[in-house]
Amino acid sequence: MRRLEYEAYAALAEREGEGIVAEAVAKYGVQHAACIHRIGDLALGEMAVWVGVSSRHRAEAFAACRYIIDEVKHRVPIWKKEHYVDGDSGWVNCERCAQPGAHESHADQIVTPLAEGAHGHDHAHAHAAMTPQHALPDFSRQIALPEVGAAGQQRLRAGSVLVIGAGGLGVPALQYLAAAGVGRIGIVEGDVVEASNLHRQPLYGVADIGKSKAAVAAARLRELNPEATFAVHAERAGAGNLVDWLARYDVVVDCSDNFATKFTVNDAAVILGKPAVFASVYQYEGQLQVYLPREDWPCLRCLWPEAPRDGLVGNCAQAGVLGPVPAVLGAMQAMQALKILLGLPVEGAPALHVFDLLGMHWRTLHAARNPACDHSPRELQTDAIDPAALELAYPTLAAAFASGLTLVDIREPWERARDVPAGPIEWHLPLSAFLQGSTALPREGRYLIVCAHGVRSLALAGHLRALGYPAVYSLAGGLAAVSA
Ligand SMILES: [Zn+2]
Repeated sequence: MRRLEYEAYAALAEREGEGIVAEAVAKYGVQHAACIHRIGDLALGEMAVWVGVSSRHRAEAFAACRYIIDEVKHRVPIWKKEHYVDGDSGWVNCERCAQPGAHESHADQIVTPLAEGAHGHDHAHAHAAMTPQHALPDFSRQIALPEVGAAGQQRLRAGSVLVIGAGGLGVPALQYLAAAGVGRIGIVEGDVVEASNLHRQPLYGVADIGKSKAAVAAARLRELNPEATFAVHAERAGAGNLVDWLARYDVVVDCSDNFATKFTVNDAAVILGKPAVFASVYQYEGQLQVYLPREDWPCLRCLWPEAPRDGLVGNCAQAGVLGPVPAVLGAMQAMQALKILLGLPVEGAPALHVFDLLGMHWRTLHAARNPACDHSPRELQTDAIDPAALELAYPTLAAAFASGLTLVDIREPWERARDVPAGPIEWHLPLSAFLQGSTALPREGRYLIVCAHGVRSLALAGHLRALGYPAVYSLAGGLAAVSA
């Protein structure tokens, strides 16, 4: 190869680049950061990208540099053309970029986090989906609506949405947000694709099983709108990261499947004054609620002063679900988020909508601001228990017992009758007993709560911790995950 040529869509590249640098400063708490990407003709070996960060600590500086380099590669519209010695030339197209999950494997191609030269095998910005010849989506059918119009489409393009969860609710929400032309979408999802997800998450296919949902989703969504940027957060949302992330978005759409996350999302939205769209499903029933940062508008805690205990009502794993139920609710979440971005009234008055898709009923319950609920800006409760810290994994129950934990089986009697675990279980206390206020379990002691799949046990472990039990854990994956 003889030389390189970089071409940029300057206005967009600068806007995106400035955004990335600001994100890096906010994310890593560094003092200053800057990034220069040269365009035009470059000789082989000449520096193409320069990143500088000043910080009190070296680790943060390196992390911020790496973040900037990674994001620039993925998000900034700059194209690279290689000119070869034989006179031939071509735009660099990385086939692997179009493959779901390709981004992780790209990290190893970063030469140095501080400066990146132009060299032959470097994949500096080579998204197949962003090549100039690629067709772009046509939004004319929605621009035709008087409520949208060209100005509305521009608002969507300038808008950003953080979606928590890329499962049954998150998949349709993400698809319709991306397809509508929302300019920047964040995907928070720590799970990998499982075979049992596909019936209600048809964004994924059997070939994706075992891959990161967030990464696969981003790759698919990029096909819907190559102009949009997608940030992948392949982690569980929690008190430690949500405020940082949400600060960079206009709206949050909560598609999580557990109350702990929903309430953390609620608190982050209230603290930052960001609109939030919540939904949840249980078998054939769905609920939808929007929080708007207005004085008279109720949040999730106004309606549920005591957060419902997770898993106590079951989730998809235990209760079962038919795919279209979360699909309907997720599409409604996208609709509410689009109205927020478009500046349209979301609904006449704050409400909790309850849908019964088996009987086909829709009830709208009036929701009122609870004056006892504190909406004033404050710190997110950092003492909130991170669910990940509550889970322990063991190959067998005997191994758990050997580590000094007292095993508590909280399955209902009918479940236990069907499947008697081979192991040293000392307590059989069905969850229903805890719900009726049982305090049989002494506070002192180290407990491992066990249920069928680890959902109810995780919920109860969190609940008992909140009640002051110092050492309660949940068996990760439940009895299904241990061998006899
Ligand atoms: Zn409230």
